[in-house]
Amino acid sequence: MSTLEIKDLKVSVETEDGPKEILKGVTLTIGDDETHAIMGPNGSGKSTLAYSIAGHPKYTITGGSVTLDGEDLLGMTVDQRARAGLFLAMQYPVEVPGVSVANFLRTAKTAIDGEAPKLRTWVKDVNAVLEKMNLDPTFSQRSVNEGFSGGEKKRHEMAQLALLDPKVAILDETDSGLDIDALKVVSEGINTFRERENKGVLLITHYTRILRYVKPDRVHVFVDGRVAESGGPELAEELEANGYDRFLKAAV
Ligand code: ADP
Ligand code: MG
Ligand code: MG
Repeated sequence: MSTLEIKDLKVSVETEDGPKEILKGVTLTIGDDETHAIMGPNGSGKSTLAYSIAGHPKYTITGGSVTLDGEDLLGMTVDQRARAGLFLAMQYPVEVPGVSVANFLRTAKTAIDGEAPKLRTWVKDVNAVLEKMNLDPTFSQRSVNEGFSGGEKKRHEMAQLALLDPKVAILDETDSGLDIDALKVVSEGINTFRERENKGVLLITHYTRILRYVKPDRVHVFVDGRVAESGGPELAEELEANGYDRFLKAAV
């Protein structure tokens, strides 16, 4: 199973003027084996939703619940969430100087599985995934995200997704700033993941472009910290044609 259930989630951040509510009651269920797209204008709270589910300390949960297959995620540490099967690809991935891609992946895999992967098959698996992502085998010796191009960062994320094999992947604007070749590689990475059994994907995006390659089961329009409307893939087509105006006016 891989059901992510978000119920009436309310989240604040601390500002100079005190706490500011960013998420104002988000309710959303990504059913077993479903891919949902969240689309919304800049500043609507999309990244806040992703980080809150993943357990970033900057965000204070003031109400609601998030469960993965019935397990309460909000009561877990970040590591526990990853072990429970949650994966977050961030809009702005951090650099980890001095830690190679190979070590990073192996450490993450060990932490999630609770035991180190068998060295021989692991090296083979890593190389196969890097090749699939059009990344040179020497890529695994580079420091994580240091000097990576936008495309390399995203390919690295897709390599993590393939190797760490979570239940639910949250991808925050993983399509931003990619040229068309990188976009296709990333889309293929997502689609390959989806082909596995019982995998959920929450694809957060500002643009409809990636949805030509990754076909979501459901689309949610996100405005001002809330789901303003939910629908099928046709909702993305409407957004592509008309933008967010209709939803922004309704939210005022
Ligand atoms: P999105 O990913 O949809 O562009 P974000 O989740 O990044 O939106 O941000 C949502 C809102 O939260 C924005 O209006 C942003 O200005 C506000 N916000 C985020 N962090 C802080 C902070 N530390 N102080 C004040 N406002 C913040
Ligand atoms: Mg964002
Ligand atoms: Mg599947």
